Amino acid sequence: MIEQGEFEFERSVLSPENRQEDTTDDFEVGLRPTTLSEYIGQDEVKDNIKICIEAAKLRGDALDHVLLYGPPGLGKTTLSKIIAHEMGVNIRETSGPVIEKQGDLAALLTNLEKGDVLFIDEIHRLSRQVEEILYPALEDFALDIIMGKGPAARSIRIELNKFTLIGATTRAGQLSAPLRDRFGIIERLELYKPEQLCDIIKRSAVILGVVCDDEGAAELARRSRGTPRIANRLLRRARDFAQIYGDGRITAQMARFTLERLDIDELGLDKLDRRMLEMIIKGYGGGPVGLQTIAAAIGEEAVTLENECEPFLMQLGFLSKTPRGRMATQLAYDHLGILKDGQTHF
Ligand code: ADP
Repeated sequence: MIEQGEFEFERSVLSPENRQEDTTDDFEVGLRPTTLSEYIGQDEVKDNIKICIEAAKLRGDALDHVLLYGPPGLGKTTLSKIIAHEMGVNIRETSGPVIEKQGDLAALLTNLEKGDVLFIDEIHRLSRQVEEILYPALEDFALDIIMGKGPAARSIRIELNKFTLIGATTRAGQLSAPLRDRFGIIERLELYKPEQLCDIIKRSAVILGVVCDDEGAAELARRSRGTPRIANRLLRRARDFAQIYGDGRITAQMARFTLERLDIDELGLDKLDRRMLEMIIKGYGGGPVGLQTIAAAIGEEAVTLENECEPFLMQLGFLSKTPRGRMATQLAYDHLGILKDGQTHF
């Protein structure tokens, strides 16, 4: 018997942030594309990177430093691994908050072999001091280390192998200008279109050995908030539901049943998205209203709303950002069935 509670809705099923369940089993690992041709969508980014890789290989040189930015779950880590794979080099992975001291970064850099990729996730969270020793490393492939203190202090220079830094961030605006200027290749990843997510879901279903028909995949894709990580997660949930309540196949009906049970509406909005829009509309006459005010009013962290709700609501055209705050658009009123005078219409 399956306990009801196992399928209870958790907001995090729609969170684009990486969660333990995505990486602890082989689920996400097995689903990650390993070559550029397997990487679905982001065509412009792929084309640009392909050319840079080919040119670097022809020159027998390391690839220029790369900055990838965009909302979580869009494939920045995946693309970085693919770049290393296509260049035929090793990749070392770390993240901004993990590198606490200059020495931590120095240890990583001195261990890189020629052409290797150093991947720093959440690069906007590097500390100032760490960033400072990164500059000469990126430009001159050298580390300037100060030995000793006071008048006896001496600076020594350690030569590094030529490497490629790939930085990933959800907040390019928070990167300091000197750091941003040191990346030769800067690419923004966009939310995916439903057709692309449909292809991602079908590919993942094949890898997982689950039967998911075209309509089932389309239904899941439409409600995945433009994010492959969420698409794969919904596929996994639908697989569970199909096993327990159906014959194991994910059809349109089974996908709709799963999504209804998870309280995800026809466009992929969940309770939090709806609460946010309702608060702007009913609490503040449709806006403009500041993000902090909305967050306080609905009892949610502003950063969660900013990272997890806003990119998708903006893509749908439900929300606009103005210098004076957030505004709900007519489309949002229509979707929620609220008239401009505040009445709900049925
Ligand atoms: P990010 O680093 O931007 O948070 P990830 O690279 O970890 O995102 O991607 C999340 C998951 O989504 C990956 O494990 C992968 O399975 C899937 N994914 C991301 N981008 C693509 C893509 N373009 N094609 C197929 N699957 C993708």
